[in-house]
Amino acid sequence: MARRYTHCDICLAACGMEVEVEDNRILSLRGDKDHPLTRGFLCPKGMASHEMVTDPLRLRHPYERIGDTWNRITWPEAYEKISQRLRDLISRYGRNSVALYYGGGNATSSINYMLADGFLRALGSDRMYNVLTLEFTNRYLVMEKMYGKQFCVTQPDLDRTDCLLLFGSNPMVSLDHPGIVASLKDLKKRGATFIVVDPRRTETARMADVHVDILPGTDLFMLRAIHSHIFHRDLQDKEFLERHCVGGNLLQQLPRLSPEDAARICGVPSETIVRVAEAFATARSASAVCKLGVNVSTNSTLTYWLVEALNAVTGNVDKPGGLVFNPGILDINLLSKIAGGFKKRTSHIGGFPYLTNSHPASELPRAILTDSPDRVRALIVDAGDPALSLPGSSRFDEAAEKLDLLVSVDTYMNETAQKADFVLPATNFLEKDDLYIFFPDHFPYPFAQWKHKVVDPPDEVKPEWEIFRDLSRHMGVPVLNQWPMEFMFRGGEALGRILGTPDRFAFDPKNYYRLLLGAMGKVKFGKLMKNPHGVKAGDIRFGAALKRMATRSRKIEVAPVEFVDALKRVDPASERSDRFPLILITGERSPHTKNTQLRGVTSLTKKQSGNSLRINTEDAASASIQDGDRVKVITENGAAAVQANVTDDIRPGVVSLTHGWGRKLFHPETRPSPERQGANANLLTGDENLDALCGMPVYNAIFCAILPDER
Ligand code: SF4
Repeated sequence: MARRYTHCDICLAACGMEVEVEDNRILSLRGDKDHPLTRGFLCPKGMASHEMVTDPLRLRHPYERIGDTWNRITWPEAYEKISQRLRDLISRYGRNSVALYYGGGNATSSINYMLADGFLRALGSDRMYNVLTLEFTNRYLVMEKMYGKQFCVTQPDLDRTDCLLLFGSNPMVSLDHPGIVASLKDLKKRGATFIVVDPRRTETARMADVHVDILPGTDLFMLRAIHSHIFHRDLQDKEFLERHCVGGNLLQQLPRLSPEDAARICGVPSETIVRVAEAFATARSASAVCKLGVNVSTNSTLTYWLVEALNAVTGNVDKPGGLVFNPGILDINLLSKIAGGFKKRTSHIGGFPYLTNSHPASELPRAILTDSPDRVRALIVDAGDPALSLPGSSRFDEAAEKLDLLVSVDTYMNETAQKADFVLPATNFLEKDDLYIFFPDHFPYPFAQWKHKVVDPPDEVKPEWEIFRDLSRHMGVPVLNQWPMEFMFRGGEALGRILGTPDRFAFDPKNYYRLLLGAMGKVKFGKLMKNPHGVKAGDIRFGAALKRMATRSRKIEVAPVEFVDALKRVDPASERSDRFPLILITGERSPHTKNTQLRGVTSLTKKQSGNSLRINTEDAASASIQDGDRVKVITENGAAAVQANVTDDIRPGVVSLTHGWGRKLFHPETRPSPERQGANANLLTGDENLDALCGMPVYNAIFCAILPDER
């Protein structure tokens, strides 16, 4: 029996794991008590993750679909057939006829992303789409405009702050920072003010000193009123604005929105807005943070900007207890530059900025369905399920029909894979080596842990990096789109064969990260190997980021002109109509699922086998709906039937349906199960309701009606 240390890869908290293994079987899996950040904690998802290894539904072989029949094929056949069809499409329709979408299925798998991205670039296509553009690119746009770099993401100094203000965040369930539960409890214990703005009385809101149960989609107006009140009462940090920022005057000169006017729009008392503004501005240190609930709502970029700017206006950036910058274990912006840099182009459908080197994924169906000669004809989907994740699912279904080639690289036959021409079976995180480098803001300081493979994958399953390496070679393009790297590793592989150690110098995660960390890492590969629980690679150096802002002014740009102009054009949230009197939110997190993933983990699906519609007691009573009744949710985009969960934990007028459901369990050889898990919330969303600045879809704040489901 061997004991191995690794970390969970299901979400960005990357909790440490201790796994006992014998004969390539996992005997036990628990939290790693010696992990410096998570100290033995694992949530139910992490605890059950070993079931993914043995799940009978998982993919174990490559398949090709001919009509409705799935045929098992060998890897060489799969590579040859896919490459042939890609080559054919590129020669007939050009390089941009091939697109790639990567999802969150490997959130922390950096090498997976790098190889997939490198593959598409090497083919010469710019048609990259990714899951970040559904949830996070508003923040990359804000970071670029305010701090000069896309990957310059700030995080709250949770362990020191005297006031924490959260917008649209439920960390007690999302758990996406290591040790977050302990940090929030400690924050309460030391008497810091804790404010949560959320239309639901979430698990986190229950802990707060102030819970602002705002109307979805109106956070921007509350923030405008907070800024107005701070300037009106002269509570801004003038010295900080003068020394470290430009544009403070533009913010100050915005037309005033009074707490009373904002209160009418946001559905909260004006006194609460004043209380929040004053508590935040007068705290010794404070951090305001905007997360998913707002990111996927109306005006997400402007809202994120005003949250970020609130920290600057009150002098709470790059100081203890404020927002801090974690530089991580290597410079991601430099790494991206080496890989070709962030392109300054705009997306070809909607003209949105090309953030994270990607078109907004909300445009993908239209990029396939357009009549334009350079439309997308081949789509490779890596660790993602756009058929369920994209807004307006029916549009993706229509687009998938029009594709000449759809390839899915995944662990399961998800809804996208079920429409594919080829499915390629990929490893789960317990079966591959990797290193988490792209989201340092989820750690309190620069930190790295090697993610050790704990078991070999079964049958013909391969890690994604290997699939993209092999596809690159079949297409005659270099791995990572870098010929010097390709030549070096091919030479190494030839030498390894001569020496009888073929893997010693081959392209694989260990050899790649050894090189990368040797060249630009703050921690060396050998040190990672010697410290299986992870390595602290430095401290947050307060004040350092302020001295090297990458903006033209070398200061924080608190009021980028395009944001100010866009803000002036925003109308208060539209009124609800008689036809659609309620507001639907779909971004809620659940303790037993992760977006569209974990479909086959039986112990989790036993705890939650579908989603239900949270509806306030008053709204349920006026629609004659009882707890547990089947109801139909209707929006202007579509309808979905689901069970009602009548509760007082959501404000009247708002209903919530968790996304990621509506999935049909399927395996190419055991055939479909009749069972469908839950209802697909994206039948209710639309791909034309987008943030005006970054093109992210609106999943929250959708007008809807509820009727009893008569079937
Ligand atoms: S919190 Fe995230 S990383 Fe930690 S065990 Fe749960 S799913 Fe895994």
